[in-house]
Amino acid sequence: MAQINNNFLKLPGSYLFSDIAKKVNSFKAENPGIDLIRLGIGDVTRPLPEACIEAMHRAADELASSASFHGYGPEQGYDFLIEAIIKNDFEPRGIKLSNHEVFINDGAKSDTGNIGDIFSRDNKIAVTDPIYPVYIDSNVMAGRAGELGIDGCWSDITYMPCNEENGFVPSLPSRHADIIYLCYPNNPTGTTLTREELKVWVDYALKNGSIIFFDAAYEAFIREDNVPHSIYEIEGARHCAIEFRSFSKTAGFTGVRCGYTVIPDEVTATAADGSKVQLNKLWLRRQCTKFNGTSYITQRAAEAIYSPEGKEQVKANIDYYLENARIMREGLKKSGMTVYGGVNSPYLWLKTPEGYGSWNFFDTLLEKANVVGTPGVGFGPSGEGFLRLTAFGKREDCIEAMRRIEKYI
Ligand code: PLP
Repeated sequence: MAQINNNFLKLPGSYLFSDIAKKVNSFKAENPGIDLIRLGIGDVTRPLPEACIEAMHRAADELASSASFHGYGPEQGYDFLIEAIIKNDFEPRGIKLSNHEVFINDGAKSDTGNIGDIFSRDNKIAVTDPIYPVYIDSNVMAGRAGELGIDGCWSDITYMPCNEENGFVPSLPSRHADIIYLCYPNNPTGTTLTREELKVWVDYALKNGSIIFFDAAYEAFIREDNVPHSIYEIEGARHCAIEFRSFSKTAGFTGVRCGYTVIPDEVTATAADGSKVQLNKLWLRRQCTKFNGTSYITQRAAEAIYSPEGKEQVKANIDYYLENARIMREGLKKSGMTVYGGVNSPYLWLKTPEGYGSWNFFDTLLEKANVVGTPGVGFGPSGEGFLRLTAFGKREDCIEAMRRIEKYI
């Protein structure tokens, strides 16, 4: 008789965004005339940069002729894209990478979720809290999380709270961690780490033989100087860190699907016989078995992000969202609210008013201001007492949402 992976049964049944959708749908059914402003889910609203569209059209035309047709590509990605990435995202920051250290994928979710494949079930995991839920759920599926407690925490996972008291800068884990997930700029809090703060983590990892999974999906939103764009800006990180990047929020690729993962040659972990194994080689083996590459058309579109026009168009899109974030930050402050993030990030982390938890503030904003956010507690126990708003909406919606919130408050 076939048996399931029982770890899947441990996952709580409903998913944050489906709970929200249920509440929103029932509100709409009861109030059909009301127009809601949705600033909850982190999806973009601006169209793809023109340079990407043109590149996709050209690539599609190439596929129309047998002389220029492309079938299966390299599992790891085409060199034209890998070289553009290294030249533009890393070399200007003094980071040297070889082509084989970059793996093109179909978005950061896949690789942040799948990377656990090459690690033993016995590794101890540490996560910042609140957190992008994929990191925990994928470890639950792999059997690394233990049991879910009534406090919302998994028994075998170490949580590193990020809250107002520590300025959203996590302290080192209270017990040994083999694998540490860091996401900066952070989803959901919108906060960042300085170089000095990130160095503490690299030093910890080097000292303890740990690996850092550094999710830099929101790197393109960094505008301040002392915020590292890549963990490899920190000395020693080539020995202990894997970095995940995404074109989703950078260039509106949420529906196109492309990102990449960097695994330097120096990152190793221990095998059962005590030998050190290069994670790059293991991941390549995993990808060649389970992944057949991102489509040629998509990779050509991603390459176009790095053309002179592409860079300008991408910057214009990100500037648009960051201006939304500024308008929202100021609007919320004017309403007397406490808000974090939204400077190097499209996310605003809003403290709920006195006496309100995340979910009842979500309900109140929905009913009284007709604005949809995401309850902070949905991202982990330390998110209680916060609500996440995204700056990915249309400008007029962001302005109107602030007007409604100010009126309600
Ligand atoms: N990492 C973080 C922190 C995210 O917030 C998201 C998407 O919201 C992703 C990864 C996944 O991005 P992608 O669209 O590239 O799969």
